Amino acid sequence: MARDDFTKQVKDQIERRAGHRCSMPNCRRATSSPNPTAPSQSIRTGVAAHITAASPQGPRFDASLTPQERASTENGVWMCQLCARVIDISPNVFTIEVLRAIKSDAERRAVRASTAEDVCSKLIVDLQEFRDDLITFITQRAIDEPNYGFSRSTNEEERQRHWDMKTRATIDFSKETQSLYESLLEPRIIELLPRTGAILGEADKDYQDLAEAAEFSSVNSLAQKDLARRVGNCIGILEMR
Ligand SMILES: [Zn+2]
Repeated sequence: MARDDFTKQVKDQIERRAGHRCSMPNCRRATSSPNPTAPSQSIRTGVAAHITAASPQGPRFDASLTPQERASTENGVWMCQLCARVIDISPNVFTIEVLRAIKSDAERRAVRASTAEDVCSKLIVDLQEFRDDLITFITQRAIDEPNYGFSRSTNEEERQRHWDMKTRATIDFSKETQSLYESLLEPRIIELLPRTGAILGEADKDYQDLAEAAEFSSVNSLAQKDLARRVGNCIGILEMR
């Protein structure tokens, strides 16, 4: 009886569905890497193992399957060479049911890994953009801040008028700064916070510092500088993950 081997396309599908990693829970090693001697080539160290064997002599052969079913993507579990050997010499441990569970668990992990990576790198980009805009905002408002100096008048009344005008202008300017901050930048950090918490964890110290700095960030430029620093910390941590 002929072996119902996987075609190259089926093997590729099985490998991709496992995220190019061994499906064995305590292994998960990467099964592809660059070929060190050929810049245009890669090395594949994984194999598509049959859940039910390709031929009656193989482990876990199921005669009720059609040759098509036996050679299908559904019947393959992606393994490194070592783990593939282990499952074939221990068919009592690695039964059809166990291998199906290993396969679906590995595929779930691959989904999680691919989305987590995208979500994380998108978050880093958005945090960097926010931090740059925040620093620009702080710098620009410092430049725009009115400076009326001191009144050199000897007239008491005139000195008082100058002082009042100066105080009013300063209050108006900080009110304007606050409302600009609240409409332009605060909504962005409010949107970024839960995304950061979802990756770092709400109990994470850096996330908590970020959330606290965000809460007080509309108060003044010192609080905004503190927020910029906290955002920078979180970017650093996310980049190392
Ligand atoms: Zn392995």
